[in-house]
Amino acid sequence: MKIKADYVNVPQWKELNVRSGMPEQLKCLDELAHNMWWSWNHEARDLFRELSPELYREVDHNPVLLLERLSYERKEEIVKDKALMKKVKNVYGLFRDYMDVKPNRKRPSVAYFSMEYGLNQVLKIYSGGLGMLAGDYLKEASDSNVDMCAVGFLYRYGYFKQSLSMDGQQIANYEAQNFNLLPIERQLDSDGNPLVVDVPYTNYFVHAYVWRVNVGRIKLYLLDTDNEMNSEFDKPITHSLYGGDWENRLKQEILLGIGGVLMLKKLGISKDIYHCNEGHAALCNLQRLCDYVESGLSFNQAMELVRASSLYTVHTPVPAGHDYFDEGLFGKYMGGYPAKLGISWDELIGMGRNNPNDHSEKFCMSVFACNTCQEVNGVSKLHGWVSQKMFSSIWNGYYPEENHVGYVTNGVHMPTWAATEWRKIYAKYFDESFMSDQSNQSIWEAIYKVPDDEIWDTRMALKKKLVDYIRMQFSEKWLRNQGDPSRVVSLLERINPNALIIGFCRRFATYKRAHLLFTDLERLEKIVNNPERPVQFLFSGKAHPADGAGQGLIKRIYEISQRPEFLGKIIFLEDYDYQLARRLVAGVDIWMNTPTRPLEASGTSGEKAEMNGVVNLSVLDGWWLEGYREGAGWALTEKRTYQNQSYQDQLDAATIYSMLEREIIPLYYAKNEKGYSEGWIKVIKNSIAQIAPHYTMKRQLDDYYSKFYEKEAARFKMLSADDNRVAKEIAQWKEVVAERWDAIEVVSCEWDIPASGVETGKEYTIKYVLNEQGLDDAIGLEFVSVKSDDDGEERISTIIPLKVVSHEGNNYTFEGKLEANSAGTFKGAIRMYPKNSKLPHRQDFCYVKWFTLPNDK
Ligand SMILES: *Cc1c(COP(=O)(O)O)cnc(C)c1O
Repeated sequence: MKIKADYVNVPQWKELNVRSGMPEQLKCLDELAHNMWWSWNHEARDLFRELSPELYREVDHNPVLLLERLSYERKEEIVKDKALMKKVKNVYGLFRDYMDVKPNRKRPSVAYFSMEYGLNQVLKIYSGGLGMLAGDYLKEASDSNVDMCAVGFLYRYGYFKQSLSMDGQQIANYEAQNFNLLPIERQLDSDGNPLVVDVPYTNYFVHAYVWRVNVGRIKLYLLDTDNEMNSEFDKPITHSLYGGDWENRLKQEILLGIGGVLMLKKLGISKDIYHCNEGHAALCNLQRLCDYVESGLSFNQAMELVRASSLYTVHTPVPAGHDYFDEGLFGKYMGGYPAKLGISWDELIGMGRNNPNDHSEKFCMSVFACNTCQEVNGVSKLHGWVSQKMFSSIWNGYYPEENHVGYVTNGVHMPTWAATEWRKIYAKYFDESFMSDQSNQSIWEAIYKVPDDEIWDTRMALKKKLVDYIRMQFSEKWLRNQGDPSRVVSLLERINPNALIIGFCRRFATYKRAHLLFTDLERLEKIVNNPERPVQFLFSGKAHPADGAGQGLIKRIYEISQRPEFLGKIIFLEDYDYQLARRLVAGVDIWMNTPTRPLEASGTSGEKAEMNGVVNLSVLDGWWLEGYREGAGWALTEKRTYQNQSYQDQLDAATIYSMLEREIIPLYYAKNEKGYSEGWIKVIKNSIAQIAPHYTMKRQLDDYYSKFYEKEAARFKMLSADDNRVAKEIAQWKEVVAERWDAIEVVSCEWDIPASGVETGKEYTIKYVLNEQGLDDAIGLEFVSVKSDDDGEERISTIIPLKVVSHEGNNYTFEGKLEANSAGTFKGAIRMYPKNSKLPHRQDFCYVKWFTLPNDK
């Protein structure tokens, strides 16, 4: 036998995960690191930092990575360090005390769905405001100890990291995250194996792992499709936020909504309320409908229950911001659902159309959300009104101001956004009950008792901290990619904590008008270069990679910032994220915002600034329209002078310049002998006392409970009791009304108005007889008059109900008294609608028929 020259098999590798060992006494640190509680408790963050300050910085403040990288020797050293061990015990004690409180089961329980969550920079599953809001919401849900869980995605790449090329072009870098080094835990099934959720995509399944983020007492479950069970086509579903094409977006929304509900079922979790934070998750209602139908209910019965238990929060003020899917694409994935639900394809896709019969309309996720959620809300008072108008074509027959779309103004999680320095002041001067009673304005009034010096010193300390942070974070970066090192050095030297520092930091969408300040460069140059009264502007923010105009704005600002006359005066800070935002909202003097009204649905960064004695200068849009108080910040009027946007921009810019020149800069520099402006401190105190208390996340959470969750949960209980008796009754009642609707007829009508018209102060009678076609007093009638408002839009002027005064067989007699209390020209008509006190609102069953008024006598 000839000996083979080479006889080797391939190695059978097995993946060995070597975890960093942990002495018994430090095991609790592991538990601490795996609960995001540390992200809003500075005691915990201080502890992690103290374990190894350099390493903590190196690992970007990620405690899980810190513990992983900490050498075993250092760990043994820590165990021997009595003082440090005392801190470990102390912080862990605080954590356990917090965690051991049982959830308050008296308030309705909620499952919250969102495409993104901003909890901390370590967990890159957010892009901007929507995510920050969701993250803050969970933190407050934990602090308020409510029964809530949340559903989202664990993105492999998350949103991009931003850098700029030498000429100011935005470069988007996507970095893969190593899930094992994040403050999250893999969700296991009852056998201890990784939990897998199988989500149907027409004729095959996508398999998702589940990761759990402990947000204090709240659990956030994240779905992850980037695994070997899925094809190359499906792994990327959870790769990046708002990336990919429409097909990937639809696949994401199927995963979030349908997959999310399937996951909760697998975990054995069921909640009273299903809350869609933005329309992305609306398909959760489709899966819930399927579940009810599978359990034996009809589609219409299922719809009663699903609607009654769901809430849709819209964040987008313009129709173009919603998700629309072509019928072909939608059909590719959703084709199997009509059979599951017992309805037709047209009926299914019709739920996503303003006009269900219009086959040219795409499927709009927001319309589907409106049709399957009992309640809908915008995120500020003005945005509530904008949303009423935006969605009004779904509920034809009613005027925008009549529809049920409400609002809850966004807030921010105070313990996250108030710098530790401010939290110490609040702890020192405010009532003990402050943390649990944050939205109580009378507590915040105590800010007036804080000595001016202390306020000023705190502000200066935070400004210095910001400047140091910028020098530390950006010097290396800028030396690397901004060319000329001497210019970078001179830029860094010019950043001056004693200057009036104004921040403009947010997403670079064009409606936010970051360019406004640069309308008149000569005037701006004079403002920033006054040697006695220096002013500096910090800009920061990302533009969506597909938004060329937004990127153009960044480039323009960057170019201006590099001109000699603006060097170190206008500064662009790359990669706006949670961490940088935290420094900025506490470290500048003024937070500026200049959106085109009414496109800023709420905005929240200005609220974060409020918690830190940073004063707002903003257009009266979104939250600031409600928040602004005279003497507590500055507002650009909400009145639109020009229809032409570029004229309006010029006017707004001129207003900003003159406010700065005449009012703001002189006030800031009206320094007393101690070196600060008493007038300025007064503005700070006013803003903390009068504005901040209304914009905490505590207030927002309480609003969601009192305006929506409690109402819905009570109604759902009523509908579902006794084997869903009332839900079945209502469904049946609606079916009968719908069937006979077209046959209902006017038997007679009359009114006693003379041909000469109505006079104020007199009363007129209007009388109708309707044949209700066997329905039992199921119809309502009302007189409606409308009038044009200042913008020439028709608005409801009066509604006078007609009461049933008698009935004979199927004929019901309705009567109403009309009285005009103001003169003018109105239009009047009679409106018929289905009447049932068990409906939550008219739009729940939006059948409407208009009648013209009878002829005058
Ligand atoms: C708060 C925050 C936002 C949202 O700010 P707006 O005022 O709503 O534009 C966006 N990004 C980050 C990093 C934030 O912290």
